[in-house]
Amino acid sequence: MVDCAPVSRPQQALIRLNIIPRDEHCISRKNISDGALKVMSRLRSSGYQAYLVGGAVRDLLLGGHPKDFDIATDATPEAVTDLFRNSRIIGRRFRIVHVRFGREIIEVTTFRGHHDSGDSGGDQSETGGNHSRQSASGLLLRDNVYGTLEEDAVRRDLTVNALYYDSGTFEVYDHVHGLQDLKNRTVCIIGDPEQRYTEDPVRMLRVMRFAAKLDFSIEQQTAAAIPRCAHLLGEIPAARLFDEFLKLFLAGYAASTLEHLLEYDLLRYLFPETSRCIRDDARALALVQAAMGNTDQRIAQGKPVTPAFILAALLWPVVEAQQARLVERGEPAMVAMHTAAQSAIGDAVNHISIPRRFSQPMREIWEFQLRLQRRTGRKAAELIEHRRFRAAYDFLLLREQAGEDTGGLGQWWTEIQDLTADQRLEKVSTSHDNRKRPRRTRTRRPNPAP
Ligand code: ATP
Ligand code: MG
Repeated sequence: MVDCAPVSRPQQALIRLNIIPRDEHCISRKNISDGALKVMSRLRSSGYQAYLVGGAVRDLLLGGHPKDFDIATDATPEAVTDLFRNSRIIGRRFRIVHVRFGREIIEVTTFRGHHDSGDSGGDQSETGGNHSRQSASGLLLRDNVYGTLEEDAVRRDLTVNALYYDSGTFEVYDHVHGLQDLKNRTVCIIGDPEQRYTEDPVRMLRVMRFAAKLDFSIEQQTAAAIPRCAHLLGEIPAARLFDEFLKLFLAGYAASTLEHLLEYDLLRYLFPETSRCIRDDARALALVQAAMGNTDQRIAQGKPVTPAFILAALLWPVVEAQQARLVERGEPAMVAMHTAAQSAIGDAVNHISIPRRFSQPMREIWEFQLRLQRRTGRKAAELIEHRRFRAAYDFLLLREQAGEDTGGLGQWWTEIQDLTADQRLEKVSTSHDNRKRPRRTRTRRPNPAP
């Protein structure tokens, strides 16, 4: 593990402002969006402080291209919206201002300050006129107490996410040894890890995400507190976990993120049943890993990805096992698939929201796995025209990639796609159906009365 300054250092030692002049860092204004520069410049000329902060500064210092630009200021959200016509306040737990420039949105946050975390009053622990609120267990329900730049720095999650760039003086401000951790390639939580995870357990998922995204090590104490605090993730609302799921698995480094989540046993707070299945079943694990790897590859190639596909893969081990159990009990395969899908999604949404626009395609992808077994008849040829065919076919290939023997089904559907409509019809009339259908004993209908 990479050596890093201990994070549980006393607060006074934690905050030591280090100002890095323009000739000692690599950030150039030309790599910052015009929108972000405009927002900072107008805030400054109106007498406020304004800095680029968070992922943008971190990624620019690492020589990368930030995906968005966040700005921190001492102007209140209302003051910011007064300055920009194209802006609005969003959020409740954490109020921020979105300033829009065409398709680009610049996020402007007002410096966060300290609040009374020592209060033992549980839900009563409100300060600053209902601006900050903690649950009995210490979870921050609202965090809208405003403060100074210095206070804002220590309220952030990771040291490498708490670097500020002043586009007026071109200096970088570092209060929490962020630059040192960036050089050491270390993800390190700011302050006492247990306290910071208790305030917001999602920070544990963010540690996983940034360790994966940046390919950084996790500082020892930052890592050591995770097993002690992991259970707190059970308190996070399902909707927030879904937002976090998108960032974890649809940002181009899902495979590595999965490895981290498995190493720290955090996947079970997002998908408990999946986590159980893949612990016991190497093929189920291989399928989920393959789904993550393929998603990363598609993102790297600029191809579109949908949460439905990755969710379908994550829940497939659960669905497949349940479907097999029902078939064993005598249910017809498609009915069993339907029931298994219903129950897997029903269980999953107790932990993580799955909007209907994703759960519906997931069911279709799963049900298609049975329909793709059919290689004969006009209906088989017509499957290719179905809007869900492509995803279902990719899913079939994924199952094969994970080591499942489907009897060459993937190859068959690959070949048939290159044929003309007539050739397809010929192929399905000569193919033999490889489904093992349960034999039905037909009861003859009595002849209708004359
Ligand atoms: P990305 O490249 O994924 O956008 P980011 O660091 O910009 O990375 P965001 O989720 O956009 O991440 O958050 C912006 C900044 O807000 C972070 O860099 C961090 O300083 C702060 N932040 C975000 N979430 C939290 C949190 N849960 N607790 C404390 N600070 C946070
Ligand atoms: Mg960001």
